[in-house]
Parts: sequence; C-alpha cells; structure tokens
Amino acid sequence: MSELSPRFIGHEIYRGSSYGGWHPLKIPRVSTVMDLTRALGWVGDGQYITSPRAKPAALALWHDPAYLAALERAEREQAVSDHVRERHALGTHSNPVFAEMFRRPATSAGGALLAGELLAQGGVIYHPAGGTHHGMPDRANGFCYLNDPVLAILSLRRSGVQRIAYVDIDAHHPDGVEAAFATDGDVLLISTHEEKRWPFTGAVADAGCGNTFNLPVPRGLNDSEMSVILQELILPKVSAFRPDAIVLQCGADAVEEDPLSRLSLSNNAHWAVVAALCPLTTRYLVLGGGGYNPWSVGRLWAGVWAVLAEHEIPERLPDAAVAVLRALTWEGNRRGRNVPEHLFTTLRDAPRTGPVRTEVRDRLAELQQRSAP
Ligand SMILES: [Zn+2]
Repeated sequence: MSELSPRFIGHEIYRGSSYGGWHPLKIPRVSTVMDLTRALGWVGDGQYITSPRAKPAALALWHDPAYLAALERAEREQAVSDHVRERHALGTHSNPVFAEMFRRPATSAGGALLAGELLAQGGVIYHPAGGTHHGMPDRANGFCYLNDPVLAILSLRRSGVQRIAYVDIDAHHPDGVEAAFATDGDVLLISTHEEKRWPFTGAVADAGCGNTFNLPVPRGLNDSEMSVILQELILPKVSAFRPDAIVLQCGADAVEEDPLSRLSLSNNAHWAVVAALCPLTTRYLVLGGGGYNPWSVGRLWAGVWAVLAEHEIPERLPDAAVAVLRALTWEGNRRGRNVPEHLFTTLRDAPRTGPVRTEVRDRLAELQQRSAP
C-alpha cells in the first residue's frame, strides 16, 4: 500500500437532493456517510476532499457534447422535449427531471476525474457518490446520467496509469462500463450481479476481448457464496492481471434489506471485498453505486471507509452516530416503518452465511477456465 493517507471525496450537493418523491433515489445516501464517518471521528485533517464539479468539456472525455448540452438544458428549464426524452432518455420514469440533474452527476463525475489524477501518485480514494455504472455516452440509463466509473478509468489513463482492474459488486450489471471497455485489453472487467434482473446484460458467455468476467448470481446470494467468489474468481483474476490501479464499484444494493434486488448479502461481504483488494494495488479507488434502503446504504458505506482508513467498527455506535441513523426517514416503503433497532445502533450486520449452490460453483468453474489478458 501507498504511505498516503486515504482520502474521502464528498460534497454537500448530495444533502437534500432527490430524484423525486416516488423515485428510489429520493433517499439521502452520501450525506449519511459523511455524517456517520464524522460522528465517529473517522475523518482526519486533510482526508476530506470537496468534489469539484466537472464542466461539459471535461465530461466530453466520454460523453457526447450534444447529450451534455441537453442535460444542462433540462436542468435549466426543468423540462424536456419529446425529442430529448426519446434521444437521450432524460425526463423518463428512471431518469427524471429534477433540480440538480446536471450539477449532481457532474459533481460525482468531477470527483471521479479528480480521483484519477490524484491516484497517479498512488494512494487510496473513497468516492461514495461515484459508481453510476449504467450511464451511456449519449443517454441516461438506470438512474445514471453520467458514467463516473468510465471517466475515472479514462482519467487514470490520461495520468499515465495503463492497466486498470474494474470490479463491480453492485446487484446490477455495469452495462455502461462494459460498453466502454469490452474491447480494451488493458482494462479487466469483473462483475457479480443478480441474474434475470435489469439491465439483463452481463451473461457468463460475454467475454469482451477476453477481459470481461461476468458472474450472474442467483436470488438469495449469501455471504458464504460471496466469499467463494472473492477467493476463487475476483482475487485470482485481479492478481494475475497485475493492475496498475483497481477501481471497485461497491454498490450497496446486494444486501438483504435492499428493495431493488433479491440478494441476501450482509455488509460483511462487501467489506471483505474492499479489504481483500487493497493489498493488490498501490492505487485504489472505491466508488459507491446502487443502494436504496437509507439505513443499509449509510451503514455499509460508512463501514467501507472504516476498512480503508483502518478504523475499528464499534459493537454499538456512539450516540452522535445513532442520531444520524435515527433521523433518516423512508416514506412510502413498508421497510421504513418499524425499522429494526440494530439499523440505528450498529454498523455491522449479522453474517448471512449459507450453502454454496451448484449454479454458483458451475459458473465460477466456467470463468476460472478462461485466462485474463
Ligand atoms: Zn445496482
């Protein structure tokens, strides 16, 4: 590991920002992580970086200028034409018009671009607002208006970092990132995602130029299965690739409490992946991603910072941190009522172990046989 102290990229724009009252992203996420980590005294002097907001010219590193202009205009006018809705998927059910619809993703993308520059010198950067892995060059997709993981990888490249391993443990397949790099032998792409779930891409057989390892996982994926996936797929492939940098998309929607997937991990599974990848690189960028239960996403992502910055997670949270979790609300979802007490008073879930099922073993065996570039 680099001697540089881990850094946390955040911004106040995420506080109070909402995609709209009916959208899964009406909930606070990054502001919870900022508040929890501060309440725990885990963010030291100089570790917090306020994310810059990327300008359209910088976003054009991957995104189509006409799309960027349409996105800026949609924010300004708070409306889109039928043409823009059809051409760029803005103003749709998934990708609604909302107050910060350009500034918020441009801030996440600005953080990702900055991370790519800073990591040229080595180190560990946590950017929980990042991870918008569905964004396409000329259209919004799956709540993602821009694709900050792609921009982070391209920023690393521009800083002279050539071989990059991208690992994605979100419940959904990173179709935008795969679209960007499936033909690039200097990017390794590994994704675990729930089978038969939107965006319905990421089949085991989709190998890109030999650099792509997709593992669709069955409903109910448990910690024991994720541990086997880590030991038998993720770590061997990343080690063999000998990356100059690792980008981990650590979406929080594969946990049991998430409303948008049917996977059953505990947050211990995510933290194990975060920790295990750390010694394999001198340049490590950890992004957020999905995560639609306000308590589970805040707890999981605060714990990611604990792993990266080497803080011990207490059995019971101090009062200031409990107050952050108790202040969260989740209207319109049954899980928002009668919230289990441990979601307020702890960060660490109880482990959710279980049998390692045949379909997981079989798909792993198929991927293990293929060598990375
Ligand atoms: Zn997701």
